[in-house]
Amino acid sequence: MIDTQDSQTVIRRLAIVGSGLAGLTAARKLAAAGVDVTLFEKGRGPGGRMASKRLSKPADSSADIGAQYFTIRNPAFRQFLTDHAGTGCWGTWGGRFRYQGADNGWQSMRPAERYVGIPRMSAITRSLSSGLAVRAGVRIASLDRDGDDLWRLTDTEGRVYEGFDTVLLTPPPAQTIDLLKDSGLSMLANDFNLQISRMQACWTVMAYFPEGAGADFEALMPNSPLLNWAANNSSKPGRQDEGEWWVLHGDPDWSDANTEAAPDQVADQLLKEFHQYGDITAAPGTVNVHRWLYARPKARTGPGHLWFQGERIAIAGDWLDGGRVEGAFNSADGLVSRLASLGLVQGL
Ligand SMILES: Cc1cc2nc3c(=O)[nH]c(=O)nc-3n(C[C@H](O)[C@H](O)[C@H](O)COP(=O)(O)OP(=O)(O)OC[C@H]3O[C@@H](n4cnc5c(N)ncnc54)[C@H](O)[C@@H]3O)c2cc1C
Repeated sequence: MIDTQDSQTVIRRLAIVGSGLAGLTAARKLAAAGVDVTLFEKGRGPGGRMASKRLSKPADSSADIGAQYFTIRNPAFRQFLTDHAGTGCWGTWGGRFRYQGADNGWQSMRPAERYVGIPRMSAITRSLSSGLAVRAGVRIASLDRDGDDLWRLTDTEGRVYEGFDTVLLTPPPAQTIDLLKDSGLSMLANDFNLQISRMQACWTVMAYFPEGAGADFEALMPNSPLLNWAANNSSKPGRQDEGEWWVLHGDPDWSDANTEAAPDQVADQLLKEFHQYGDITAAPGTVNVHRWLYARPKARTGPGHLWFQGERIAIAGDWLDGGRVEGAFNSADGLVSRLASLGLVQGL
């Protein structure tokens, strides 16, 4: 890692690319320490992979299409959520969670506190983004230095955002590497390109069962080569659906091998697996499909975060800290502590 010590100036104006949990964690902590923070988000709103999709039938429904639930092992994560998201928008999800063991017999998943957003996963990131400057619908295409040696960001529409002394990148690795390369910063991309894990795709199907699916479980992880996960989204706290919305996730290797498949065909295949492994006979009504090209890292190891002091560029995200929602928090939290220990942030 490049880690030169040539600049010890306190961070005053920070641009964060990406407003998933990693970007929002860093933003809230650094804004509280007096840093002027702007987040740039290519999506319509904050949240990233803690995403919920609004659904038209039945009216006012939604389903969590990315992270299904998260665990909290780090007490600092719990404290952060309590302090910054409040207590009303997240809580535990209980139920019958099953997986198929090596002998194909069904077993109960290990008891654990599984947390979800209420009334949808994205409620957490929505709450965390409150009061922050989030420029949604802005896809950053490149960075360069202006005449004062400050960072200038240009989006895909050619709009320019200037005057940042430091930049934090939080997109998944392929997108971060592209951004660095398109900014003439290939040496930074090359520095960590080989150390990090690739992200795998995930086909996601949302299926509505007006009379319920008739399942005797809330979530299932079968030994299917196609279907990795099936969950009754309507069984999560705060959802008030008539009938049931189920979310099916494709197996990562199968999703990777079929990224260009037709969505209708994907839906048929995953629903067939759901019916077979879940012993379901009910037919779904409305079916929606979403393709994640970058869902989760293949390996669960990483350096935590990256800080290129000479360039004043930081990189954080779940993929640098074991994947998962808590990994995204840990990555950004570790970065903020590092910046504070270097004297670049005061007032924490
Ligand atoms: C299908 C699926 C299932 C999952 N299941 C679980 C689970 O059950 N439990 C769990 O703990 N985790 C799960 N995860 C992982 C979890 O969602 C992630 O670990 C976490 O949300 C990552 O947060 P992040 O901030 O690191 O990245 P992200 O949430 O990906 O945030 C990065 C943000 O950067 C934005 N962006 C990218 N490029 C640009 C650009 N050029 N300009 C502007 N913005 C840009 C993106 O739109 C995105 O909002 C799942 C993920 C998926 C996709």
